[in-house]
Amino acid sequence: MASNALESTLHQLDKVSDRLGLDDGLRAVLRSCKREFTTSFPVRRDDGRIQVFTGYRVQHSLARGPAKGGIRYHPQVDLDEVKALAMLMTWKCAVVNIPYGGAKGGVACDPKTLSHAELERLTRRFATEISILIGPDRDIPAPDMGTDEQVMAWIMDTYSMHQGYSVPGVVTGKPVNIGGTAGRREATGRGCLVVAQEAAHHKGLSLQGASVVVQGFGNVGAVAARLMAEAGCRVIAVSDSQGGVFSPHGLDLVALSKHKREAGTMIGFSGGDAITNSQLLELPCDILIPAAIEEQITVRNARHVRARIIVEGANGPTQAEADPILKDKGVLVVPDILANAGGVMVSYFEWVQDTQSLFWEEAEVNRRMEMAMTRAFDEVFEMGEREKMDLRSAAYMLGVRRVADAIATRGIYP
Ligand code: NAD
Repeated sequence: MASNALESTLHQLDKVSDRLGLDDGLRAVLRSCKREFTTSFPVRRDDGRIQVFTGYRVQHSLARGPAKGGIRYHPQVDLDEVKALAMLMTWKCAVVNIPYGGAKGGVACDPKTLSHAELERLTRRFATEISILIGPDRDIPAPDMGTDEQVMAWIMDTYSMHQGYSVPGVVTGKPVNIGGTAGRREATGRGCLVVAQEAAHHKGLSLQGASVVVQGFGNVGAVAARLMAEAGCRVIAVSDSQGGVFSPHGLDLVALSKHKREAGTMIGFSGGDAITNSQLLELPCDILIPAAIEEQITVRNARHVRARIIVEGANGPTQAEADPILKDKGVLVVPDILANAGGVMVSYFEWVQDTQSLFWEEAEVNRRMEMAMTRAFDEVFEMGEREKMDLRSAAYMLGVRRVADAIATRGIYP
């Protein structure tokens, strides 16, 4: 996320607060993070050296329920970025109406340079440092960039050791054999499919034969591409960080995945032509799904985008300044805080199942997620129609209003 992430998140909030006519007091509450925790902690490296790392956990709001948000391991993690991401989680949970506030955490480190044992020691020490904040009723971490279900398992185990009994509900995104949920791995990509279906419906577009372009072929992008193809779309181009492949007739995604698994890259795949990431974003298509990293659609390339619908699988793939250009071109943009919320939705289902010690079949998880995402899309779309605004502004309006309402209803203590 860009270094000015906090500034642009606050700018977006101020715009929405004006529209909602919020008073100064409420604005001040929404603009600030409830708790900001910074910790410097030592980790023993494999060669015996001691290295000090800095980590953060920020809870932006607890107004609608316990705080929820991922933990990121990345060299550029800093407090402002974590604050911005925590705030976005508050709005995201509110837009899809799950009873959570927003949080985020991170450690400034490069996980690729740490051995498995070092990663475990760093994670267990960080989990101990933030254990004064987290808990199944208080703040529930999940994976984010650089962390995965193994990291969640270590956090869950560390927290449980301190309590003296197992507490699976302290994190989500953990392995299924220790209380994770069926369907979590696919949830974000599946959520993208649900909102793409809704958006296509409003554009009078059938998914049968619709052309789809996906940037990023990871957890979100590869799943979204596969599910879109299963829904009848023609996935004409996909890419990863090294570039992509394009075939106007539709790509064979099974063959492509096999090639990428074996070669470690899409380059050299014989079932399509090579294409760069910037060419990919400008391909004529019905649906474009940026599912890689932030700031891909910019003031420079927005006017060349030839998609009818953009579904933001990634967080922040569109620069704020590019939004009006896309709007003028009539592109329907389903914003990240709605489009990729399938992940946090199923995280919520995981926590519900952990709390009840009663686990659902995958079909049940998917059914509930699809229902909730469809409802969220409809609510955002209606807000957009009523207020004559794009879906991003409408999603923020809906999310911020729900949080403001919760604060106003609860009142200010004491
Ligand atoms: P991932 O690491 O599994 O996959 C990322 C993919 O993007 C990889 O294929 C990578 O090669 C590609 N990529 C990286 N840099 C690129 C570039 N410059 N151009 C094109 N492709 C590039 O990550 P993920 O979990 O799929 O997350 C992708 C995005 O979705 C992130 O913005 C993340 O914050 C967001 N997101 C993820 C989830 C989730 O459940 N995983 C939920 C909500 C939002």
